[in-house]
Formats: sequence, C-alpha cells, structure tokens
Amino acid sequence: MSDRLDVVGADLTVTLTSGEQRRFTHLDYAASAPCVRAAADAVRDLLPHYGSVHRGAGLRSQRSTLEYEQARDIVAEFAGARDGDTVIFTRNTTDSLNLLARALPEGTTTIVFDGEHHANLLPWPTPVRLPAPADPEDAIQSARSAFASVRGPGLLAVTGASNVTGEIWPLRELIEVAHSYGGRVLIDAAQLAPHRPISLSDTGADYVAFSGHKLYAPFGAGVLAGRGDWLNAAEPYLRGGGASTSVGDQAGDVVWATGPARHEGGTPNLIGAVALAAVCDALLHADRASLDEHERSLLAALPEGVTLFGGKQPRVGIVSYAVPDPAAVADRLAREHGIGVRAGMFCAHPLVRRLGGGGDCGTGGLLRVSFGLGSTHDDIDRLLRAFDELGVRGIL
Ligand code: PMP
Repeated sequence: MSDRLDVVGADLTVTLTSGEQRRFTHLDYAASAPCVRAAADAVRDLLPHYGSVHRGAGLRSQRSTLEYEQARDIVAEFAGARDGDTVIFTRNTTDSLNLLARALPEGTTTIVFDGEHHANLLPWPTPVRLPAPADPEDAIQSARSAFASVRGPGLLAVTGASNVTGEIWPLRELIEVAHSYGGRVLIDAAQLAPHRPISLSDTGADYVAFSGHKLYAPFGAGVLAGRGDWLNAAEPYLRGGGASTSVGDQAGDVVWATGPARHEGGTPNLIGAVALAAVCDALLHADRASLDEHERSLLAALPEGVTLFGGKQPRVGIVSYAVPDPAAVADRLAREHGIGVRAGMFCAHPLVRRLGGGGDCGTGGLLRVSFGLGSTHDDIDRLLRAFDELGVRGIL
C-alpha cells in the first residue's frame, strides 16, 4: 500500500480495566475513519500560508483560492464528474442530502427505501417510502413500480453501501430503471466512497454525496456532486457572501451566483476541502484491486452478520451482529479488550428493526464491526478472541 494511505495514529494505546496497556484496535470506521498520511500532510503544508478563499488580493488569499479550486478539480475527478456537473463542498453527507432536497424542482417525487440511514430518509419532503427489499431483484422491481406511477420529475435516493450490513446496493440496475422512466438517482456514498470507486460517469448516477470524515480526511468537509441544472435553478442553500454576484439597494434585489458558489455561501472550509482532495488523489492513484482483495480477506475471517440481500450482493468492510445487549458487549470490548466497535441503531432505525435489532438506541440494536485502510488480520483476530472470551461466539 502506498504510504500516502498509511493511517495516522495506528499505534494509539489504551489502558484496559486490568491495567494492561494495549494497542487500540479501531473497528468503527463506518462512524469516522482515522486520518491517512495524505490528508495529514496536506493540512500540515497548508497551515503556514492559508488565508481567505475567494476574498482578497494578497498572497495567502490567492494561494488559498487556487488550492480550494484545485481541491474541487480533484474531487470532481474522484466523483467522475461529467461536463455540466457541479461539485459543491458541504459539511458532510447529511448537509449534501439536505442541499439536494432543497434544490428539487417543484413537484419532484423522491423515492427512498426503508433501508436508508436517516440522513437519506429525513431531508426529502414527503418521500415515497418503499419497504427495505428482500433481495436485489425485489429492490429493482419496487423501484420500477414506484417510478411507473411518478408524474413529473422523479428522484431515487439510495445508499451505495449500507451503514448497517455493508452490502452494496444494485446501483447499476436501479439507475437503469430510474433513467428508463426519465428519473434521476442520487447515491448516498457515505459508506461506499471509502471502499469502492464512485464515478458518476461510470455508473450513470445523477448525484453522489459523501463525507470526508469517513474517507480518512477528518477535517469536516463533505461533497455533493452531480447534474448542474437543478442546482443552478434552485434557491441558494446558504444565502450570504459568495453566493451572490450583486446585491441592490432594495430588499430582494440580488443576483445569485451559478455553479458551486450559489450554494457555498460564507467563507469556505479550505482545510476540509484540501484534506479531502488529498485522500481522493491518493485513492485515484492507489491499487484499488489489492485494497479490495485485502478487505475481502478480512471480511472472510469474520463470522457472517445480518444481511438484507441474503449474501447476493458484495459488501464493504461493515458487518453487524444481532447479539443480546449489544451496548454492554461494545462497552466490554472497549474496556477489557481495547477494541472500539459501535452498538445501537446506527441512525437507521427502520432497517435495524427489520434486521432484528429491536429496542431503542440505548438498549437495543445491533453490534457493528467496520474497518478499512490500515486494518489488519491481527485486528480481526483480536476481535474474535475477545468475542470468545466474552462468550458471544455462540450467538453471532
Ligand atoms: N449515509 C450513510 C449511509 C451513513 O453511514 C452516514 C453516517 N453514518 C450518513 C449518511 C451521514 O453522514 P454524516 O454524518 O457524515 O453526515
């Protein structure tokens, strides 16, 4: 693996309840991934000279403006942006999805499955909600029937990879269905982007959204990339400086910018954008096939978890287990074994209930193990030994 993709902080140690010091094993990448060298270096290099983006004639501002726009170009390449696509820096995936939800043309019908993270369920005004599918064919058929009854613009907002099961959704087929009805597709790639290419031009998807902090760039930038027409016609998402090209003396006398500036009001998050672009660049030049192969071998070492598509779809490095009292198991893994996983309902309540994780965020849900760059067989072995010691083996 290229050292630009080495994880920073891989040697973090933790004191166990026994008093023993141990290397911390991070298996909660799906919540926030650790930072890689490319992002850390890019931030370090920027700190001595950063200034205000798009605001100022001096050296700092000029360099910062250039670096911000270069970051956008790299992210555009990572997202496979086509001519006419817009790449907007946001705070995170949630922000990107809210932005698009506000940019929908009047009368748009949004279609979502109940297998989504809340970030892709809640922003859409009165979406058509389809039950979480039983298998990939079911997903395609329900999307087909939903689009068949849409009048006017239609948008399917679907996750790329589930934050609960790690399964990759049948995106190409769903995109084909949507397009055959003249509809559009947004891919919530918060969990897909850290593991697989997410090219708009390769998949034909209309929009893609993802977060820097899950993509090894924990400096608080997200992205919405996709077709510029709706975005340029929409009301600006963040009204203020930068979003307008001229403001008159009367209230409402404003000419709004087009392109990304229309929705990026206020001083941009340069560090977030530059860190994110550095990781995108490193991933664009990485040997993705060998990263995938490593991920598959780690997945193969883990017991099978809950699934939506019954093993018919590939999965990224995310596996959830239905165990009694997952919060207590996660707590003991942290305190007694120095292993960080996540327990609960993962902001995907309908899906987690459907998969057998009843209860609420405090007591119920599932136990989720997730990994990525820098994860090793030693990490998985430690987890399996801890599962054995905690007696969770028989109930996975
Ligand atoms: N979609 C999915 C599939 C996610 O896993 C998450 C984060 N857990 C989000 C959206 C929201 O991402 P963020 O919190 O970075 O906005």
